Amino acid sequence: MSDAALPDAADAAQRLRITEIFHSLQGEADAIGWRTVFVRLTGCPLRCVWCDTTYSFHGGEWRDIDAILAEVASYGARHVCVTGGEPLSQKRCLILLERLCDAGYEVSLETSGALDVSQVDARVRKVLDLKAPDSGESARNLWSNLEHLQAADQVKFVLASRADYDWARDVVASHDLAARCMPMFSPVQGTLAPRELADWIVADRLPVRFQMQLHKLLWNDSPGH
Ligand code: SF4
Repeated sequence: MSDAALPDAADAAQRLRITEIFHSLQGEADAIGWRTVFVRLTGCPLRCVWCDTTYSFHGGEWRDIDAILAEVASYGARHVCVTGGEPLSQKRCLILLERLCDAGYEVSLETSGALDVSQVDARVRKVLDLKAPDSGESARNLWSNLEHLQAADQVKFVLASRADYDWARDVVASHDLAARCMPMFSPVQGTLAPRELADWIVADRLPVRFQMQLHKLLWNDSPGH
C-alpha cells in the first residue's frame, strides 16, 4: 500500500451510510416527548412485514462521523437517537455511539434485537425491538442480547394480534424482563386496535408499559418526524 492510500483508509474507517438526520420529538420509549435529534443509518438485514421505515433499506449517503456530530450539535438538543434500519448492521455505529456519549448527549439506540449488542457503549440506552411471530422475523431474535440489558434499557414488543400478545406475555414472564429493564407493548397501527391491547394488559395485570407512537399521532409518520 502506498503512503498516499493511508489517509483514504483512515477516512473510510470514520464514515457511516446515513439515510437522514432530523430534529423532532421522541415518539416512543422512556424518552418520549423530548426534543431529539435522530440519526437514521441505512440498511437492515430483516424484513418485518409491518416495517414503517423501508425507505432506509437502501440508498443513503456516506457521511464522516465528525460531520454527523457537527449536524447533531447544530440542533442544540440534549437527546440523540441512533436508529435505522438496523443501525448495528454498520459496525462503525459503535464508534458513533461512543463519540455521542463522549460529547455529553443522552443517547439511545433503537435496534432490532437480531444483532449483538454486547459491544454497545454502556452509557447508551438500548431499545431492543424483539420480533413477535406476526412480524415474520421472530426466528432472528438473538436471545443472548437479553444478558446485556441494563436497568435503563427497554425491550419493545410491536404486536399485531392476540397470538403476538400471548407470545410477548410469555417472553416477559420467562425472562423476568420487568425486573431487569422496561418492557413495552405497542400495537401495529391499523392492525391491532390500541384499546384492545390496553384491555388485555390490564386484564392480565402485566408488568409492562403500553405505548402508542407519538410521531404517528402528531405527524402521521411522515419522514423527517
Ligand atoms: S428491523 Fe426495523 S427497520 Fe428492519 S425490517 Fe424490521 S422494523 Fe424494519
